[in-house]
Amino acid sequence: MQYYICVFLITLSLAFNACEKSTVAECPDACANDTLQHVKRVLLLGIDGCRPDALMKANTPNIDKLMADGKYSLNVDRGAHDTWSGAGWSTMLTGVWPDKHGVHDNLFGGKNYGEYPHFLCRVKEKSSCFKTASIVHYADLNTEIASPCNPDVIIDFDDDVQVAEAVKNYLNDCNMDVVFVNFDDVDHAGHTRGFHPDIPQYIDAIESVDGFFGPILQAVYDRELNNNEDWLIVVSTDHGGKIDGTHGFHCNDPEVTRVFSIFRTKNTNNKGGMSYDPPLVDIVPTILDHISVPVDSLWKLDGIKVAM
Ligand SMILES: [Zn+2]
Repeated sequence: MQYYICVFLITLSLAFNACEKSTVAECPDACANDTLQHVKRVLLLGIDGCRPDALMKANTPNIDKLMADGKYSLNVDRGAHDTWSGAGWSTMLTGVWPDKHGVHDNLFGGKNYGEYPHFLCRVKEKSSCFKTASIVHYADLNTEIASPCNPDVIIDFDDDVQVAEAVKNYLNDCNMDVVFVNFDDVDHAGHTRGFHPDIPQYIDAIESVDGFFGPILQAVYDRELNNNEDWLIVVSTDHGGKIDGTHGFHCNDPEVTRVFSIFRTKNTNNKGGMSYDPPLVDIVPTILDHISVPVDSLWKLDGIKVAM
């Protein structure tokens, strides 16, 4: 009898653990017959609903360093009209506008990711030896967009604290090549209190995310120093927002549609404010170029790469 109780308890505990999401890194297996160099790598950090003017007002030393070491625009076109998060993230991650990816809201009803997939699919098609991750707070980004690409690591968490902890662990402990991260607390603060530089809670949320960036970026800087790697770090957002706590539907207001992007490599040419404003669709070709995944014209991407 004791034996049966014991087996039951072990089974129960395994089942319980399987349901719990852990921030501890479970590294993907290395690839057999791997011909990739693994020098060039990518970290895409997305901050949901972050206005550029509020980002500039907030005290963000980690993001400031990225801007100084890289290049940036504070006037990026994320597209008008389809200003919901689902549409904005789809544009950023697929590299095409909503007329192609088909997502106009947060219901993902018209999604056409079969024809216009998440860029992680393109990375994996080039070589399954690229180790990819999608670690998010906004779970739909994984269930709707990333999951068909079968990233090596695909996790969502209920808060930004756990997202940050997991990302730091995966970067420190595993040999990841391409990592996408989504933080969502800034958007929540905007909806609750208002999206505006004069809203202290909105500024506080941006400063908290910058704090989360610290250990994550340090992990990348350590890897670059110790392993001779060269990381493209991109930071951007899916939309801005208005002081009334909305970012609308069919919205053309510049505080919603004009956002920011930061691009940084180990040795960025022409650092600082960019002479043009690369639209949100330019992020995917810039990422693919950094890791030498050639863009196929049949993919019908809408953007062009940012020269680094
Ligand atoms: Zn959003």
